[in-house]
Amino acid sequence: MNTNQDFVTTVILKVLENLVNEENPTGAEPSGDGIYQTVEGAVNSAVQAQKRLISMTLAQRDKMIAAMRKASLDNNEKMSAMAIRETKLGRFEDKIKENILCSTKTPGTEDIQTVAKSGDDGLTLLEYAPVGVIGSLTPITNPTGTVIHNSISMIAAGNAVVFNPHPSARETSTSMIRLLHKAIVDVGGPVGLISSVSHPTLETAREIMEHPKVNMLVATGGKAAVSAVLQSGKKAIGAGAGNPPVLVDETANIRNAAKFIVDGASINNNIFCTCEKEVIAVDEVADCLIKFMQETGKAYLLTPNEAKKVTELVVTKEGMVNPAFIGKNVQVILKEVGIELGEEYRLAVFEAGKDHPLVWIEQMMPVMPIVRVANVQEGIDFAVEVEQGNRHTAIMHSTNVDNMTAFARAIQTTLFVKNGPSYAGLGLGGEGHTSFTIAGPTGEGLTSARTFTRQRRCTLVEGFRII
Ligand code: NAD
Repeated sequence: MNTNQDFVTTVILKVLENLVNEENPTGAEPSGDGIYQTVEGAVNSAVQAQKRLISMTLAQRDKMIAAMRKASLDNNEKMSAMAIRETKLGRFEDKIKENILCSTKTPGTEDIQTVAKSGDDGLTLLEYAPVGVIGSLTPITNPTGTVIHNSISMIAAGNAVVFNPHPSARETSTSMIRLLHKAIVDVGGPVGLISSVSHPTLETAREIMEHPKVNMLVATGGKAAVSAVLQSGKKAIGAGAGNPPVLVDETANIRNAAKFIVDGASINNNIFCTCEKEVIAVDEVADCLIKFMQETGKAYLLTPNEAKKVTELVVTKEGMVNPAFIGKNVQVILKEVGIELGEEYRLAVFEAGKDHPLVWIEQMMPVMPIVRVANVQEGIDFAVEVEQGNRHTAIMHSTNVDNMTAFARAIQTTLFVKNGPSYAGLGLGGEGHTSFTIAGPTGEGLTSARTFTRQRRCTLVEGFRII
């Protein structure tokens, strides 16, 4: 992107964002907008709101959820623009997709249908009951998507939620919470059912985690956030980091594989936790795969010398990702090493050895290594190593069912996508509901309303059989 285009983009994003701010021009905090000065205030309101929610009908709950979906869709452009402006991560058009996905493919109350069992001894119901007040830590990478998804899921299950958004996405996430809160209240829902503190910090996260009236914790983020909620002594759900490998064997449809890998790895500039982060290709097809990736017109192949320069730029001496380049467009990154790319490019790829740092770290930027292996078994073994037990996501391109089964069994990830881009596993062009809280470490998988419940059995003894 050249300087003029940068300027025009910044102006457009600012105008879109101002449309949101006009609704609250002073930035003042009118009472009852879901944003509180203190954790105590937010939690106390949440307790009251949750009591009101469960005294209301399921039809009323459905109405609130429908209003939240509509508010998310109606404000999608403004909120996506704000997210890009504040966090400086990702791509506008992909944030739009993320928000549509979360608004339309997060299940509602249909996910908590009662299970009934009747027999000679009577009737037993299994009901998915609310847990109460949930504390939810949300990431900078999905400051709207995770908030939309968690709000719909948690409220569908009869809970109230107090969010602690990432401090560097404060404005976006609290604006999203205000919009959802207003949607709930406008259709007669309780004030304070979803909330946040006005200035979330690690300290307010700690207060939420330790608050005696918070019944469950959910961390969507990196390792530290997940281990913080797991050490809280409360029921906790951890949706953590990933480093998804994509394995291509010699039986794959290589042209399709190339296209899907480029699309999956470049969505939102690689900041989705599910994005392909390294390619592992069987030697026999690696050259062809790289050629087809280039032929998509969206992937630029770095020479070994260029790859060295880019690595020195984006990986620090300590072997960490340089945060300045997370979520940036490929043009911005490559310009730093003197490579000018046209707007059509979305990804840079390069051949790497097994020990290359970008194979092992979650880069969250559109620069991706390709590692050759001699055969599929070596590829499976290596992919398991680089996934590092995150149990997050893996992708495979193959037409050999035995190979796909062997990889799925070996890697044990929560998401396993075959012959498609990684985001198909999120329900974007793939079957199934979506989630932007994917609980690998604690095993709940792609969370939905049912995840945020307590199971309760209700038994009626003696005949209640009509057959
Ligand atoms: P992060 O871990 O820095 O922050 C996530 C949230 O946790 C923020 O609200 C942050 O303030 C809070 N937090 C962080 N450390 C904490 C601690 N010690 N105590 C209390 N709270 C703490 O993550 P991020 O940079 O915002 O997001 C990117 C990471 O999240 C990536 O690793 C990505 O893979 C992961 N992620 C996972 C999922 C998933 O569903 N599994 C979804 C989105 C992002």
